Amino acid sequence: MLQGKTALVTGSTSGIGLGIAKALAKQGAQIVLNGFGDAEGPKAEIAALGVKVAYHGADMSKASEIEAMMKFAADTFGRVDILVNNAGIQHVAKIEDFPVERWDAIIAINLTSAFHATRLALPAMKASNWGRIINVASIHGLVGSAEKSAYVAAKHGVVGLTKVTALENATTGVTCNAICPGWVLTPLVQKQVDAKAAAMGLSNEEAKKVLLQEKEPSMQFTTPEELGELAVFFCSAAGNNVRGVAWNMDGGWTAQ
Ligand code: NAD
Repeated sequence: MLQGKTALVTGSTSGIGLGIAKALAKQGAQIVLNGFGDAEGPKAEIAALGVKVAYHGADMSKASEIEAMMKFAADTFGRVDILVNNAGIQHVAKIEDFPVERWDAIIAINLTSAFHATRLALPAMKASNWGRIINVASIHGLVGSAEKSAYVAAKHGVVGLTKVTALENATTGVTCNAICPGWVLTPLVQKQVDAKAAAMGLSNEEAKKVLLQEKEPSMQFTTPEELGELAVFFCSAAGNNVRGVAWNMDGGWTAQ
């Protein structure tokens, strides 16, 4: 379905980003990976799906590095047809204790990076009159949780950016939508499980249960594979007129 298209997924060396990159690669898209840590493993996983893959290690908190990554993608594959703004970090603390540099980093990586990548991707998408911008927001783009001020502010910002991007391109073949996962058991959430286990003297399995019980009626984690399939849907012809939605996959979190 996506043969001949190029997808750039930020923060795709791990977790949800890697899951989405794999799902798009399975549909034939060539992939530009980004993120920290080991890139060779993820590159090999994508290449094994029979598509071309490249990697750029831009730090998504830096506009100049995002510009270099977008140029690299265009030089390597011609243009970016599908942009998945996924890179993100978390920090948990009450507002009065929140480290200022963590606030700045979360806003830069979780929100401002999506603005930069989007503004740089749009001209080529509009020129070909086809494009998909998928912002990995969070259920925290729709509701709040205590001790997550920067994350909730950034993710609400991402949902707002999604709507404006969709509106500004509404008469073109370029769509923009957000994905809002509840709990997904990636390294980002495992850290929160570990903190709960330590604070409450629980085992890893018990801490996972407590985390789910607080928010998710389904008592199940959403998987990167499920989120990948939602991204594939946005890229399909059925997604042509899906514009500006913030689509939850949250086990009932926001239905309560
Ligand atoms: P993860 O920690 O597994 O992956 C994060 C990715 O972002 C990694 O590839 C990491 O290297 C990359 N990254 C971090 N800082 C970066 C930077 N400065 N520049 C470039 N890359 C950077 O986390 P995840 O859970 O897969 O999170 C992915 C996205 O999904 C995030 O935006 C997160 O907020 C969102 N999300 C996660 C959950 C969840 O439950 N895990 C729920 C809702 C939303």
